Amino acid sequence: MNKNVLVTGASRGIGKAIAICFAKNGYDVIVHYNGSQQAALDTLEQVKQYSSNSTLVQGNVSRQEDVQQMFKVIKETYGKLDVLINNSGITKDNLCLRMSEQDFMDVMEVNCKGTFLCSKEASKLMIRKKSGCMINMASVVGLCGNVGQTNYAASKAAVIGFTKSLAKELGLRHIRVNAIAPGFIQTQMTDQLSEEVKKQMLSQIPLQEFGTVEDIAQCALFLASENAKYITGQVIQVNGGMLM
Ligand code: NAP
Repeated sequence: MNKNVLVTGASRGIGKAIAICFAKNGYDVIVHYNGSQQAALDTLEQVKQYSSNSTLVQGNVSRQEDVQQMFKVIKETYGKLDVLINNSGITKDNLCLRMSEQDFMDVMEVNCKGTFLCSKEASKLMIRKKSGCMINMASVVGLCGNVGQTNYAASKAAVIGFTKSLAKELGLRHIRVNAIAPGFIQTQMTDQLSEEVKKQMLSQIPLQEFGTVEDIAQCALFLASENAKYITGQVIQVNGGMLM
C-alpha cells in the first residue's frame, strides 16, 4: 500500500509544490485548501497525473470542527495517515504599535492553533500504527524576528516550540516531528512585498538569490523519507544562508 500525506494549504505556493513533489515520489496526496477551491482542484489535477488515489479536503485549520471533519474523511478514505505537513499560513503585517488585536490573533489562530489542531488529530491516526512523520512550516522570521511581523514571528516561534515538544511526546511511538524554516521563497505571499524590501532582503542572502517552492518541497520529501529516520525535533533552515 502506498504511503499517504496530508498537505495543508496546498491550493498554491509551497503547499502546492510539496503536494506535486510527493505525488511524483509515489505518495497518495490529500490536497487541503480553505477558500481557494478552484486553485485546489488545479493542484489535485496535477497531483493525479502521478498518483490516482489522491483526494481533496476542505477546512479552516483554526476551527476544531473543520479539522475533525477533515480527519474523519481521511480516516474513512484511507484508514491511516503516514505524513502530515502543516503548511497553511497567513500574514497580517503591521508595526506592533499599529497592529490590531484581531490581526494579531488571526495570525496566531491559523499558523499556531491550526498546527496544533491538525497535529492532534494526526497523532490519533499515527499512534494506532506506531509510526508517522509530521513536518511543520516555520519561518526564518520565527528565529530572528522581523520589523512589521510581531504576530507572524510569534506564531512561527510558537510552531518551533510546539514541534520540539511534540517530538519529545511522540518519539516513543516512532513518530517524528520536525520543522522547516524557509527563508525568502518566491510565492504569492512574498510577491506582496515592495521592490525595496525585496532588494534589501536579497542583500542579506549569501547565495544571492531567493528560494523556490521546489527547494522547500525537496527538504520536506527528505524529512518524510527513511533517510531521515533518526531526525526528530529539528528545525531545518532552507534560506540560502540568510541566517546561520
Ligand atoms: P500562500 O501562497 O499564501 O498559501 C497559503 C496557503 O494557506 C493557501 O493554500 C491557503 O488556502 C492556506 N490557508 C490560509 N488560511 C487558511 C486557513 N484559515 N485554514 C486553512 N488553510 C489556510 O503561502 P506560501 O508562501 O506558500 O507559504 C506556505 C507556508 O510557508 C506558510 O506557513 C508560510 O508562513 C510559510 N513560509 C513562507 C515563506 C515564503 O517566503 N513564501 C517563508 C517562510 C515561511 P486557501 O487559499 O484555500 O485559503
